[in-house]
Amino acid sequence: MAAERTSLFIFFGGTGDLAYRKLYPSMYNLYKKGTLREHFGVLGTSREKLTDEQFRDQVRKSLGTTKTDKDAEKFISHFVYEAHDVTDKAHYQVLKTRAEELDKKYELNGNRIFYLSLAPSFFGTVAGFLKTEGLTDTKGFDRVVIEKPFGRDFDSAQQLNDALSKSFDEEQIFRIDHYLGKEMIQNIEAVRFGNTLVESLWNNRYIDNIQVTLSEKLGVEERASYYDNSGALRDMVQNHIMQIVSLLAMEQPVSFTDVDIRAEKVKALRSLRVYNVAEASTNFVRGQYGAGDSQRAYRDEDNVPHDSNNDTFVAGKLLFDNYRWSGTPFYIRTGKMLADKFTRVDVVFKKPLIDIFSFPQNHNAPLEANVLTMYIEPHAGFSLRLNAKTNGQGFQTEPINLDYFVDAKDSKATPEPYERLIHDVMKGDGTNFSSWQEVSYAWRFVDQIRKVWDLQQPQFPNYTPGSMGPASADELIQRDHRQWVYRLNK
Ligand code: NAD
Repeated sequence: MAAERTSLFIFFGGTGDLAYRKLYPSMYNLYKKGTLREHFGVLGTSREKLTDEQFRDQVRKSLGTTKTDKDAEKFISHFVYEAHDVTDKAHYQVLKTRAEELDKKYELNGNRIFYLSLAPSFFGTVAGFLKTEGLTDTKGFDRVVIEKPFGRDFDSAQQLNDALSKSFDEEQIFRIDHYLGKEMIQNIEAVRFGNTLVESLWNNRYIDNIQVTLSEKLGVEERASYYDNSGALRDMVQNHIMQIVSLLAMEQPVSFTDVDIRAEKVKALRSLRVYNVAEASTNFVRGQYGAGDSQRAYRDEDNVPHDSNNDTFVAGKLLFDNYRWSGTPFYIRTGKMLADKFTRVDVVFKKPLIDIFSFPQNHNAPLEANVLTMYIEPHAGFSLRLNAKTNGQGFQTEPINLDYFVDAKDSKATPEPYERLIHDVMKGDGTNFSSWQEVSYAWRFVDQIRKVWDLQQPQFPNYTPGSMGPASADELIQRDHRQWVYRLNK
């Protein structure tokens, strides 16, 4: 059984979609595994007026359990509720009193996790009042968990960070990027630094290019009003893609600790080339989906303006100006309404300098590049493409794949990203969270692209639902005499 962790959780936005859909079920999993046992308490808050019992009914519904489930009921009995407007300074005293009651009842040693599952415009307000009204004044730890988005550009992110920093130190702030909670993202470090075979080739001498694809099959659904103000570049590249890229690009950390890993990720991001106007126009392309067979165009979706120029797709080339990666581009792409839902990384190795099998009489197809593919979702696994001799007479080569996939049983036992991340917050381990420096370097890069795009008029819509984005995304990579490893109709 897992070691028990002790803390009070105060959820702001405790009746929101995220809390019910992800956070409480993840905590219940931690309870079933023994990380949470007797010594934890949950104080849910939001504007809604609910009694403790009504709140527990909602939590029960979110877990999919019934009152006859004794174990679940024991877990739910640790939940209490307090209606609270986060802008009402005086009311924080009520929260403080309830927090102290729970602390005493469950012997929580003053450990507190403040989870801000709210609109980001409230983060600074809540953080400020938590401090001035004495909720952080305990003998245990105080940690604050922040949901995305962390700003909409560098300036707003910095303002947000300045506001948070008045109440919490950097090591007390846990900025969620749920991609970092995914099993295979964490596996990038294991594969790179646990294998001589991989790490010794992990550089521009042997790797031709690296491709990161986060492909979504759905459109904007009910998130249109948020998404139309964000777009693919802000919603996916600034956070998830930049985090994946920095794990792929970083040097080996001195030790496997949050401080050392973050230091290497920041170093990698510092050497990412921030584009000037001409480079941004050449190296990034954007798209917006039009209508498909039974699919409305983005501009016809509910809550999207008919003249919206928002990007629902982005592809780009990233260049690191450092010794390891100079000359080896990282290509990235992400978008909505694409052919399928998946996330993968394709590491394309250079071909042998001389292809000794393609002598004229042999009619052998040229050797293909070795490719290491990391499948992140929906199925986690790896595939390594090698060249081998075809069976039989003569001497022909063909590409073969060495595949490994996490089997269905193990995959069922894989913790949900939020389960892992909440556990990490309780341990005080910031490895799988974004540090302020990472966030700020990512924004500086993305802001340059955004600035250039804001000056140009895109030709939207420019791709059809079910494709892999606009033709310009293929042209972007073909211009460098390369291809996307994952493509349709190959
Ligand atoms: P939601 O709109 O479903 O819930 C918002 C919550 O905030 C509600 O409980 C509401 O009562 C509360 N609230 C609003 N104004 C308040 C006020 N003045 N005082 C007190 N409480 C107030 O939002 P959500 O989807 O749960 O998202 C919460 C946060 O998580 C947002 O920052 C969002 O960007 C982020 N996020 C959500 C998801 C998701 O899947 N839902 C995914 C990633 C990030």
